[in-house]
Order: sequence, then C-alpha cells, then structure tokens
Amino acid sequence: MTALSLRGVSKRFGSAIAVESVTLDVAPGEMVVLLGPSGCGKTTTLRMIAGFVDVSGGDLLLDGVSIRGLPAHRRGIGIVFQSYALFPHLTVARNVAFGLEMHGVARAEREARVMEMLRLVKLEALAGRLPRQLSGGQQQRVAVARALAIRPRLLLLDEPLSNLDAALRQEVGRDLRILQRENGLTTIMVTHDQREAMAMADRLVVMREGRVEQIGTQEDLYERPTTPFVASFIGRSNIFPGTLSGGEVLDVPGSRIALACRYRLSGGAILAVRPEQITIAPPGTRADERAVGHVELSTYLGAELEHVVHLGSDLRVVISNSCFGPAGVRRFEPGESVALCWSAASERLFDDADRAIPPVGSDMANRTAFPRVASDA
Ligand code: ATP
Repeated sequence: MTALSLRGVSKRFGSAIAVESVTLDVAPGEMVVLLGPSGCGKTTTLRMIAGFVDVSGGDLLLDGVSIRGLPAHRRGIGIVFQSYALFPHLTVARNVAFGLEMHGVARAEREARVMEMLRLVKLEALAGRLPRQLSGGQQQRVAVARALAIRPRLLLLDEPLSNLDAALRQEVGRDLRILQRENGLTTIMVTHDQREAMAMADRLVVMREGRVEQIGTQEDLYERPTTPFVASFIGRSNIFPGTLSGGEVLDVPGSRIALACRYRLSGGAILAVRPEQITIAPPGTRADERAVGHVELSTYLGAELEHVVHLGSDLRVVISNSCFGPAGVRRFEPGESVALCWSAASERLFDDADRAIPPVGSDMANRTAFPRVASDA
C-alpha cells in the first residue's frame, strides 16, 4: 500500500533544474525524511507535494490519485513551516481552529477538535495565550496542532526543529516522532541535519544536486552507502581517492594502502572507511595492518579518543575509538608512527564513477560494509 507516490517528479526554474526525476513511494504511517546539503532540492520537492510550486514533469499521487492539478488547499495536506507561521494576533486556540474555519467545519465540532489537538500536543492549559507568550517549543507544538486539526492525509514538516536551540531540539524531535508514530501519521520531513534525520526517520532520502542519491533505512545508508557522497554525508567517512593496482593495493599520493579485500577493478578508485572502524597500533604488530602514518593529533573527547594520522603527502585520516569496552584504547602521541588497521567488513570501494564495487567472492547485497560498532566489538 502506498500513501504518497512521486513518479519522476522534476522542477525547472527557467533553464535551471532544481529537482530531477525524483521517484519515491511512502507507505501509510511512514515517516520519510528528505536530507541533503543546501540547494539540493529538498524544499522544492516538499513544496511541489504541498502544491505551492508547480511540477515541471512527472506526477504526484496521494492514495493512488494524481494531485498534480489540485490547488494546495484541496490536497488535504497539513504543513508545519520552519517559521511556524502562527498568526500573532490570534490565541493558540484560534490558531489551531484556523484551518477548520477555512474548511467550514461547524463551531461545536471545531471547538471539540481544537481541544483534542491541544491535548495531543499537551497545550490545553495555554489555549488562551497569544503566540508571543509562548516558548519556541510551545509555538512549534501549536503549529503541529494546527496542521493536524484538519485531519490531513499527509503531514509535511519543513525543518521543524531548526528554530529551536540545541538542547530543546532533541526533546521536541522525540516528542514529534512519538506523536507521529502513535497516531500513524504519514509524514515527510525536510532537514539538512543528518543526526536529526537519523533520529526521526523510518526511511531517509539523501538528495544531491536535485537528484536522489540513495533511499533507505538508517542501516542501509550507514552500512551500505552506494556512493562516496552518502558514505561521508551519513555519519563520517575517511575518503581516500587513489589508483588501484593488482586489485588489492590502493596507491594514494605519497603512500600505499593494502586493502582488506581484492577487487576486480583497476585504475581510479575511491576508498571509504569510517573513523570508528579503524584501529591504530604500533607498526608491524597486527595482521590487519593497512597503512602506516604519523600521529598529528590525539584528543580525549570523553566517550571516545580521536586520533588524526597523517598519511602520505596530504592525506589526513581521522580515527575515533570508544574509550570503553574490553579492548581499551591506547593514546598515541603526536609524532609517533602508527599502523592503521581495519577488517574486510569496514572497507567500501567505489570506482571513479562513484559506483560501489563489491569485493571478489562476495555477495554485495548481503554484505555489511560498515558494521555497527556494537556488533563489531
Ligand atoms: P536549503 O536547505 O538551503 O533550503 P534545499 O535543498 O531546500 O536548500 P531548494 O530550496 O529546493 O534546496 O533549491 C534547489 C535549487 O533550486 C537551488 O539551486 C535554488 O537556488 C533553486 N531555486 C529554488 N527556488 C527557486 C525559485 N523560486 N526560482 C529559482 N530558483 C529556485
């Protein structure tokens, strides 16, 4: 079953392509987050779904029916704007009632629905206040209540947490996610914040330059990124561009990396390895040694110890290891020579067209390229 379907949706502004052929199916009750750097087209995609921006190509289906020609107010979509867009001169209750008035809902039902929505977002006690008498988090909840009051078929959230301070953001994000799950609200959210996206989504859509780069769950994107861009955008990755020789040695400027796997590829290649998947050790002490470099910086960050290792002529590798657990992490000092070690499962190789290359003898579909730290320990 599909609640919302985007079929090759595109948007051109004059000759510039803002969104190119985006295809996506959203299941009922699912929370899908559109994620990507500034200018990648996520807001334009959301605005096309809302009906604020015309589609240049492709189609949009809500519950199986095209909404492409339907004006925004007839799509049955609730929207929470980044700025909340509350009416400053109306009370909380009147703000929440606004959409219901527009839809001609009778007064008695309107009042009942407003109270129901305010209960849902835990703001019953503040119904008579004006927006300026509320905190940022409370204003955001009014905006959510207003969007939900019309019982929308789809909820759109445009950077809903970005006006909140960092401490509040996580808490409000969690509340919003619980509300969304418990009420089975089909929701599309836009954010440029990777952590926020990971925390809120059932599935994520990573966009880049108007196109979908990869769609998947948190595990899909973190453990099986299909491009170097996704490998660095979701979590962190050390990216090593180089030249592959013999299928198992990557020459990078000023150094060589002995890969953990063998690949049927020669020439330009890009290796991605996550900071938390690399172990450092004195050179010549471990079988999984991949390269040798010099420590430039070691930093104690509380939960983890971070080393920056200089490799070759201009490669800086970041290594981040948990300070806890049975292995314990030794801190190496700047200037010390160290070996970088990682296992086959931690390595992800791409060709020079950014396509993921499976190692020889592996079934990429079943392979966990970047296992979670917990399962690796
Ligand atoms: P941000 O996180 O900065 O909001 P975004 O990923 O949401 O970025 P969009 O706002 O969707 O990106 O913009 C995608 C591209 O379309 C950008 O290059 C932008 O300059 C362009 N664009 C957006 N709206 C218009 C418009 N009304 N006219 C012309 N170009 C536009």
